[in-house]
Formats: sequence, structure tokens, C-alpha cells
Amino acid sequence: MTKINENFLKLQAGYLFPEIGRRKKAFQKANPDADIISMGIGDVTQPLAPAVIEAMKKAVDEMGQRETFRGYDDSGVGYEFLRQAIKENDFESRGVDIDIDEIFVSDGAKCDTGNIQEVFGLDNVIAVSDPVYPVYVDTNVMAGRTGGPAEQGKYEGIVYMPCTEENSFVPDLPKEKVDLIYLCFPNNPTGAVATKEQLKKWVDYARENKAIILFDAAYEAFISEADIPHSIYEIDGAKEAAIEFRSFSKSAGFTGVRCAFTVIPKQLKAYTKDGRAVEVAPIWKRRHCTKFNGVSYVTQAGAAAVYSQQGKEQNQRIIDIYMTNAKLIRETLSRLGYTVYGGLNAPYIWLKTPNGVSSWEFFDILLNKAHVVGTPGVGFGSAGEGYFRLTAFATPDNVKEALERITNNI
Ligand SMILES: *Cc1c(COP(=O)(O)O)cnc(C)c1O
Repeated sequence: MTKINENFLKLQAGYLFPEIGRRKKAFQKANPDADIISMGIGDVTQPLAPAVIEAMKKAVDEMGQRETFRGYDDSGVGYEFLRQAIKENDFESRGVDIDIDEIFVSDGAKCDTGNIQEVFGLDNVIAVSDPVYPVYVDTNVMAGRTGGPAEQGKYEGIVYMPCTEENSFVPDLPKEKVDLIYLCFPNNPTGAVATKEQLKKWVDYARENKAIILFDAAYEAFISEADIPHSIYEIDGAKEAAIEFRSFSKSAGFTGVRCAFTVIPKQLKAYTKDGRAVEVAPIWKRRHCTKFNGVSYVTQAGAAAVYSQQGKEQNQRIIDIYMTNAKLIRETLSRLGYTVYGGLNAPYIWLKTPNGVSSWEFFDILLNKAHVVGTPGVGFGSAGEGYFRLTAFATPDNVKEALERITNNI
């Protein structure tokens, strides 16, 4: 008799996006002429930058010639040309010294933030923000690091850190001792950022408690304010305390191409039961190379082109399109009397639902009156109740149209 991994049975149904889809479909069926605009899903809409396309085409041609054909990437952790470009452009340029051996290229930050927990013991206490990117939670449930479902969509055994207006959506240090702390800045879904001072508190906490911060920086490219850190390694001592996740998905439109990377500094240690310090990076490398055979050469060539002068300029123009959308959403909704957060250093606007209506009630109002789909905040955690997420990834025309409808009909 084959036994199932019962941890998977603890997972609560992936409720949010199926339920959004169900309500959208029902509305479309009842109103076949309605032209629904989606500002719900965190996916990009602008095409890849020409510099990236050119580099990928060239790489495809190389793959078609015996002399330049490439098979497996023997390093397993990414071609040196890409890791060198990452080192120089993402870190050296901000005064951070990261060795290319500390960079692990992969096919996504979703996979990396989901897989990283495998190298840590099952008895670690994990802490997540509430609201939260569900990947951090669900992968720990699958691994057996939690108990069963608790109230409000939570799980037993996880420390949830509420992110509210009071703490500007940056979690307070937990009262209990935790071992693995997931932080995401700029944040999905709230659009909040953490200052150097705020991150320093977390780095100090991690060092004092021999804890590790898992820092998801997938949205760093959207930071517009000068003094906001792009990398947690801009904070003193963070190399001993944090792993950082980056992705080309949102910064360069790679959601369908797939390329990302994780940084694990040599100084970062975890401990055996008898207290012996063990470097985390070699263990992650062992895992990565055992379960993963590298990102395609064509994709890595495209990713490296993101760091060329043209690639940088072209991608900045694309980010500017999204952030112009974000600004318009923020300003229009503020003018209409909504309380809005985010949208300044992130492509997400986190708005407070008006008159205390629930997240799902506001979803229905928006869909029925403006034919606009967004994401109910409560879908990201109970502290998201009474909030609503709009993304700035739609096309500028759709954003303008959606805002006109909201202005005129709600
Ligand atoms: C989009 C997103 C990512 C990126 O995931 P990929 O697998 O690299 O596409 C990572 N973290 C968060 C919070 C995201 O929203």
C-alpha cells in the first residue's frame, strides 16, 4: 500500500485565484458584453526588451552550430558571464561585495523561495508576514514544518507577523524566538518597503538569535526613492544573517522566460543539533545541482543582456511605464477619497476598502460596477481583510479606462 505524504492534505485549497476566476466567469456569463479589465494578477504585460531578444536570438544561432553548441552548464549554478554581470551590476554598484561563488542561478524565485527550506531542519520555527506571498507558507506545510490548519486560513506552528497601517506594513520583531524569517521588500501584496534602519533591526535580531532571514527582493528594480536599500546586504552584518532571492521576472519581463538567482554568502551558517556551525552555501549548492540541471544557455544569454547599457535603458523605460500606471492609480484613488498604500517603490497598490466593506465585498462592487478585477487582500492572510490589491502591470490604456470607470461608477 502506497502511503501519501499527509502533509499535503493539510494544505487549504488554493482558494484565492480560483475563486476570483469563478466570480469573473459568472459575471461574464451574465454580462456577455462587459469588457472586464484585469488588475489582479501579478504578471507583466510589456514585451521583452529588444536587447534581450537580440541576445537570445544570437544564442539560438550559436546552439545551431557545432563549434558554439552548448549542452549542460557544467557548473550547475549558472554561467560565469551571467554571475559576473550580476555581481558587478546588482551588488558592486551598491557597495556590496558578493563573490560569484555565492550566486546560484535558477529558473525562478518562486522555486528558490519554495525550495530553500529543504536545507533547514524540520524543527525550525518559521515566521512570515501577514499578509504573505503564499509560497513561503505552503512549502513549509508540505515539508511538515507546521501543524494542521488553524482559524483564519492560518496553520498551527507558524509565527504570523501582522503588517498593518500601524507598523507601516513592516513587521515588528516577534516576541517568541524564531529561526527562519521570510521578509519580502518591496512587498507583494502591500507595496511597502523597509528602510535601512528597519532592516538593521531584523539583521541584529537574526545575528543575536542565530536565525536566518530569507529576503525576497524580486521587486527591487521598482524602488524609486533614493535611500531605500535594494539588497539586504546593504545592511552591516547581513552576510552572516540572510539569504537573498532575486528574479528577472518582474524587473525584465521574464515571467515566461524563467530566470532568477539566489545569493548565499559564505559567512552564513546554520547549526547541527550539537551546536556545530555549518556553512549553508555548499549545502544549497549540493541540493541545487542534485535536483536541477541549470537554466538554458539561451535564457542566461538573455538575462546577461539585461545588464548591457541598452538592456538597462530599455528595461528602465518598461518599469517607468508600470510605475506611471502605479502613480495614476494612486493619485486617482486618493483624489476619490480612498486610503492607498504602495505604488511608489512597487508595482502594487494596497488600498483600504471604503466604508469598512470586506475585501470580497469590494471585489464584487468593483467587478459589478466598473468591470474591473483586483485581488481581495484577505486572500493573502487575515491581516489583509479590509484591503484590496491592484497591480500596475496592466497596459496604460487599460489602467486609464479602469480608473475612469471607477471614477464614474463607484
Ligand atoms: C513574482 C514574484 C516572484 C518571482 O517569481 P519567479 O518564480 O522568479 O517568476 C518572487 N517573489 C514574489 C513575492 C513575487 O511576487
